[in-house]
Amino acid sequence: MPSNPMPKESYTDLALFGGKPAFRETLHVGRPNVGNWDHFLRRVNDLWERRWFTNNGPYVREFEQKLVELLGVKHCIPVCNATVAMELTVRALDLRGEVIVPAFTFIATAHALQWQEITPVFCDIDRATHNLDPARVEQMITPRTTGIIGVHIWGRPCDVEALAGLARRHNLKLLFDAAHAFGCSLQGRMVGNFGEAEVFSFHATKFFNTFEGGAIATNNDELAAKIRLMKNFGFQGYDNVIYIGTNGKMTEISAAMGLTGLESLEDFIAVNRKNYYAYQEGLKGIPGVTLTRYDEAERCNFHYIILEIDEAAAGLGRDQLIAALHAENVLARRYFFPGCHRMQPYRSFFPHAGLLLPETERLASRVLNLPNGTSVGAAEIRTICDLIRFILGHGPEIRRELLKREPPKS
Ligand SMILES: *Cc1c(COP(=O)(O)O)cnc(C)c1O
Repeated sequence: MPSNPMPKESYTDLALFGGKPAFRETLHVGRPNVGNWDHFLRRVNDLWERRWFTNNGPYVREFEQKLVELLGVKHCIPVCNATVAMELTVRALDLRGEVIVPAFTFIATAHALQWQEITPVFCDIDRATHNLDPARVEQMITPRTTGIIGVHIWGRPCDVEALAGLARRHNLKLLFDAAHAFGCSLQGRMVGNFGEAEVFSFHATKFFNTFEGGAIATNNDELAAKIRLMKNFGFQGYDNVIYIGTNGKMTEISAAMGLTGLESLEDFIAVNRKNYYAYQEGLKGIPGVTLTRYDEAERCNFHYIILEIDEAAAGLGRDQLIAALHAENVLARRYFFPGCHRMQPYRSFFPHAGLLLPETERLASRVLNLPNGTSVGAAEIRTICDLIRFILGHGPEIRRELLKREPPKS
């Protein structure tokens, strides 16, 4: 992707002040990773000829088999998306009452519960890991609690051992939203093997995609059998419905995309990893900017380039930095802002939830995500990092410019 040379000489060269944007084309977070086009087309041709488009077709079955092998798990059921996957799993596990979840997650984690009239009880996170803090989880347990949903944020696994201990002692069901964590491991075991079940998202913006899609991994045969029924309206064979179900099926074309993507999985990881270290190098020594780390002793997908901006040290707040980057056509994103507890309907249900979520609120105000994946490379990353350094070096001017633009308070 072409970019103009950096550094800009004066702050007035910043696009925020009318200068030429550093990138002519917009750099997005979550631009899809794609595998080999010819391989995908060959598969599309086959399914076209076969006229078998959905209902557990040959590609879905092959995809399922490949997932099972990759994760070393007994079952990994492909479904239409992770939100329905979560709804199915929550229902199959017979969760009710209250379920403890982080507020620092994508809204679907909470909605999958509320959709079934189960109350999501928002729990605070650990400052270092950004994942559920097991000590806080324990404090949120009430007689109505039936389960815990951990989210492996950024693909970094939760403290599974501590959460499993809590679940055991309090007789709760433990499951994981592993939407970020496909291809990641914990102590050498692939994510997919923890809790009662783990749910992956294969949405286009995720590390690995099937356009839309997801999967439910579990080592529990009974649970898997129940979910298989539920995702297909409860049909057991022709004309025989034995259960209340919904439509959670993955289509053949999604599975074709998945099979094609799996062939390139190691390449996606290699590109992400290289990019991650290019960011680390480029951002070195910028005051107030911390890049979230990954554990090289584990398998990880390096998909998320997460910065924490400490306004006092950086000279600008996260939102001001984002405004300046957007003007340069770098669409850095806030993630999980402002937190599920501040979105509807939850903010009306629990207007004071934030009081128990200090770490969530702190993180939600500091985090941003930068572009990664196969559509950015070393040159773009160098420019992005130089821009961040330059922008933060001109905090007072940028602050003044942004203040001018704020609509007058009435
Ligand atoms: C993307 C995402 C989901 C939802 O996945 P879909 O496949 O889009 O339904 C759920 N939880 C988290 C943490 C996510 O990032």
